[in-house]
Amino acid sequence: MFWRRSVPYAGLSYGRTPVFSGGTIASMSTVLDQLRVEASTCTKCNLAEGRTQVVFGMGNPTADLVFVGEGPGAEEDRQGLPFVGRSGQLLDKLVLEEMGLTRQDCYIANVVKCRPPANRDPKPDEIAACRPYLERQLDLIAPKVIVTLGNFATKLLLDTTLGISRLRGQSYPYRDGVLVPTLHPAAVLRGGGTPLAQVRADLVRAKLALAANRP
Ligand code: URA
Ligand code: SF4
Repeated sequence: MFWRRSVPYAGLSYGRTPVFSGGTIASMSTVLDQLRVEASTCTKCNLAEGRTQVVFGMGNPTADLVFVGEGPGAEEDRQGLPFVGRSGQLLDKLVLEEMGLTRQDCYIANVVKCRPPANRDPKPDEIAACRPYLERQLDLIAPKVIVTLGNFATKLLLDTTLGISRLRGQSYPYRDGVLVPTLHPAAVLRGGGTPLAQVRADLVRAKLALAANRP
């Protein structure tokens, strides 16, 4: 019944309809890996020129929870992994404290997969060029809850021009689940107490949404 089952089944069938609990997961992560390989040589926008490597995303390909950030910074560009610098350390800490979850429990990706030079904002044409990768990631993972971190991810996925401070503080229906917008952890690093309390509250909202969306 779930549309994620339309992903090609990679396992063997023994003359009966296969039970999908194992097979889908294996084939879906295979498709996600194929997409990662495809993205690793992408030159669809100018950001290809300045990157060390493409930062595709990381985590559990069957996660119920996906975080979407803006784009890789210097440390992410170096390691090839999302949110491994100061913002990422803060994100890990807050997600553990407010949701009791670790990186193994979720998936993390960005709006643009290559580092913008000197950490400038990604440009509209770069966001548009990279968007299909994020859409495919969300198609394949089919999370119940998406937490968007900051303006770029929130505006892109909610298709709005409203800013994050207007949009956060509630959840929105999105695909088969909900989207919970929150501030980017870099805004907490800059802003201290108020943004910190707001992100904590939004993560609690995401935790409740996860529980509510569980069958
Ligand atoms: N900021 C982001 O938006 N994404 C990362 O991966 C790291 C920092
Ligand atoms: Fe390709 Fe996205 Fe990197 Fe641009 S940012 S080169 S679209 S992977």
